[in-house]
Amino acid sequence: AGVPAHTAEQYLARLLRQGFSVAVCDQTEDSSQAKGLVKREVTRVVTPGTVLEENLLDSHKPNRLIAILPGERSGDEPRRYGIATADLAAGTVFLQELEGESALRSEFARQSPSECLLPEDPPMPAGLRAPSILPDGLADTLAVSRLKPAAFSPREANERVVARFSEGGRNKPAAANLKALSKKLPLAFAASGALVGYIEETFAGGNVLLSPPQEFDPETFLCLGESAIRSLELVQTLRNGSLEGSLLWAIDRTCSGAGSRVLREWLIRPLRQLEPLRARHDAVERLVEDFDLRAAIRTQIKSLADLERIAARLAANKATPRDLIALKETLQLLPQLDAHLSGGVGMLAASGPLPETGAAAPSLIGEIRAQLSGYEDLGELIARHMKETCSNIITEGGLINDGIDKELDRLRSISTGGKEWIASFQAAEAARSGIASLKVGYNRVFGYFIEISRANSHLVPKDYERRQTLTNAERYTTPELKEREAEVLGADEKICKLEQTIFLRLRDDVARSAERLHATGRALAELDALCSLAEVAHKKGHVRPVMSNSGRLVFEQMRHPVLEETLPKGELVPNDIALAAPVNGNAAGNAKDASVPQILLLTGPNMAGKSTYIRATALCTILAQMGAFVPAEKAEVGIVDRIFTRVGAADDLAGGRSTFMVEMTEVAEILAGCSDRSLVILDEVGRGTSTYDGVSLAWSIVEHLHQGRCKPRTLFATHYHELSALEEELPRVKNASASVKEWQGEITFLHRIVPGPSERSFGIHVARLAGVPASVLERAKAILIALEEQNGGRISNVTDGGAQVSENAPAAPRRKKLKPTAQDGQLQLFDPDPQQIDPNVKIILDQLRTIDPHQMTPLDALTALDKLVKKAGGS
Ligand code: ADP
Repeated sequence: AGVPAHTAEQYLARLLRQGFSVAVCDQTEDSSQAKGLVKREVTRVVTPGTVLEENLLDSHKPNRLIAILPGERSGDEPRRYGIATADLAAGTVFLQELEGESALRSEFARQSPSECLLPEDPPMPAGLRAPSILPDGLADTLAVSRLKPAAFSPREANERVVARFSEGGRNKPAAANLKALSKKLPLAFAASGALVGYIEETFAGGNVLLSPPQEFDPETFLCLGESAIRSLELVQTLRNGSLEGSLLWAIDRTCSGAGSRVLREWLIRPLRQLEPLRARHDAVERLVEDFDLRAAIRTQIKSLADLERIAARLAANKATPRDLIALKETLQLLPQLDAHLSGGVGMLAASGPLPETGAAAPSLIGEIRAQLSGYEDLGELIARHMKETCSNIITEGGLINDGIDKELDRLRSISTGGKEWIASFQAAEAARSGIASLKVGYNRVFGYFIEISRANSHLVPKDYERRQTLTNAERYTTPELKEREAEVLGADEKICKLEQTIFLRLRDDVARSAERLHATGRALAELDALCSLAEVAHKKGHVRPVMSNSGRLVFEQMRHPVLEETLPKGELVPNDIALAAPVNGNAAGNAKDASVPQILLLTGPNMAGKSTYIRATALCTILAQMGAFVPAEKAEVGIVDRIFTRVGAADDLAGGRSTFMVEMTEVAEILAGCSDRSLVILDEVGRGTSTYDGVSLAWSIVEHLHQGRCKPRTLFATHYHELSALEEELPRVKNASASVKEWQGEITFLHRIVPGPSERSFGIHVARLAGVPASVLERAKAILIALEEQNGGRISNVTDGGAQVSENAPAAPRRKKLKPTAQDGQLQLFDPDPQQIDPNVKIILDQLRTIDPHQMTPLDALTALDKLVKKAGGS
């Protein structure tokens, strides 16, 4: 489709949003020089993962292109995937290999790529379909491009990647590095060949800023799986997928899109090593302490351009005139920012000696500062060349200052002189003809003309030649006008061409600094992210967490970071939490941890605050490990390597798995993947099945987490009161519950977590709050009492759906302690004893047993029913 060039971006944006790729064809020769048809070529293919244009990118989110090469399947082994990911605006390519579909899903959740490259399916025998490469549902929201399998071959990778990044093998160390990488991650390296090939093709000529592929080492990050990212609502809410209400929303006080992208990256990939965390916390602490400095930096950052993305466009020859102007303005502001940072630098640069070595610890802010200087010449170069305000189109002139190019100045004087001449020509002709309303104008088709209204046509001088007739006017020209026209138009056209040439030369000059500008952009983005963390910490009174390798996790007076933002002041109830994993085989870590549990079992009624409490713990841990301060009075975090969550009942209908299947798959992953350093969050495990099944599973899962190979710190919220007996069996398990105040039949949730198990679960009360009709509530109470009498005490769940009915049993005896018995492996919750059946009921039952409905007429049946109803005391 042909579209007007100046609206092309709008069309592109719409097509890309729908997952299309767009080939852009341009005239590649000057139409005035062309003989016959003007030559045209595809100059660029814009695809969702390779856009760089400012208006087509979300400034707050990274845009990623991912190439995936699956390994051969061997038996029952999980499939291996080689992954290469490019972020063109950041200029990076990362390689990694993953095992199994779930790991692939998690990687997609972390990266949210917008486009994916896969090899085409191999040819299959008739009637058979090739198995799909991606797990179901994964590619629903992104564009998928299938490439010929050859694009993913090691040979191609060698040609594309090794050749590109080692200057055709001349750069020996680079070539050796890449060789080593290809040995270590063969699948991912092959995928990077397809990735780089695709990028080069879409950028016709391959001019794009890319650093050589690097291995992505997951061991340096706190690993968050897909389920944790989703269920902890890190970047979007579960309810409607919006940013508002997520953790990112609650902590994002960045002043730039680039800063916001960095913050998101830090949140999704928190750190796992003490030293880089120390550096981040130090920087945040200094920025918290120096309010004026922080305010000054933030004000400055607001007026800075997105250098990272401008640098990427420069490298790809895509920078626009406005990009250069914005770049210049930003570069001119850097010395001021540098001065601010150095003003505070006595404080900022020196972070004190490292405890182990005594050497001065590197300061993040010092490193950022080092990226800000040395741009005076570049800023000055652009300032000298470019007009302050100009259009964003490079072919229409108006870009370049006077005094830059002699020829340009000469042409301009002709052009402006020409225009003055036309004004005086108009005045002279008006006087000569006596037509005061005579106008000299210009249009593209007819060039310069003299316009005279029809009413005055009798006054037109003899030497005028008619050019065009309008409804109310005639247009004329004269030989003199034609001559000037040629001169002026010629000059204007030449000016536009010359300005374009000068602009492109300038752009090439500036593009030589693209890589350095890119690093500066990243540094500024990090500074913004650090300021944002400091801003939140200061405004909300968060504390710096003490980080260690101790296996402890202690938050005193912890607040949920999102509720802290949304609940009215004073409503949020802070809570304490302390967990300790037995690190290095030492059962209780150290003496002070002897009383600190490894597993906290949390019981309590619905709505009492259990989920909030366990989520807050996970969120505070993530905050601590991303370098943020923590919403608590005191925080101590023994580094966590992975956070596992099993929260809520998330049906994966698209994936064809039932709620319970999803739940158990997640549990299986947790048990297989956790380590002594992990944090496990379990909310209501075992609810998707019957009570017996559920309690048994929950019970044995807790036992496994306590006694198994790995002993992760665990928070387990459950409705199964039976589990609280585990505290007596397992030394590192402790009970806690969400407390509730009951007064005159009304219940208040205190949202306070206290030691010891919950006594009751108040399910019927919650049902009343939710508006379940009174008749249903009354009946539920009656059933509850009957069931409890039958059971000789209290019971827990009675239905598959997990509806709670264990409320208000008057003076019920203490719950019978439940323990799975070795003989039958079942929990004896109900043992229906025929002796206990009410004699009146028994009579009715006996009578029912004598009836054979198949031998009865409808009338007999009615009569029999009537009798039974009367026996039962009905009308
Ligand atoms: P549960 O998991 O026990 O069913 P939730 O954690 O979902 O309960 O909490 C129910 C509601 O109580 C939440 O919507 C939340 O707004 C409120 N709440 C929970 N914890 C707190 C708290 N510490 N302070 C104030 N309100 C809270």
